[in-house]
Amino acid sequence: MPSFEDQVVEENDFLNGIKVQNFIKKTQNKPVNITGVCKNCGDPIDDKRLAANPKADLCIDCATELENKRAHSAIFGPKR
Ligand SMILES: [Zn+2]
Repeated sequence: MPSFEDQVVEENDFLNGIKVQNFIKKTQNKPVNITGVCKNCGDPIDDKRLAANPKADLCIDCATELENKRAHSAIFGPKR
């Protein structure tokens, strides 16, 4: 009979396995930015940003700029 500690460790391994599987499922069908470089300006993307969003392909500056443009066109409509 395994000890309580052994069972807890096994359970944690099991849960970690599920987390990894979910992560793979989530990222599998989406392009993941493996280069870690902003596609707009070519600057390296912050590690923390990539960890939070592995498919981020813009650095925080460009992403912020894009968000501002989106917010702008949502209010004023797309430029013609
Ligand atoms: Zn950039």
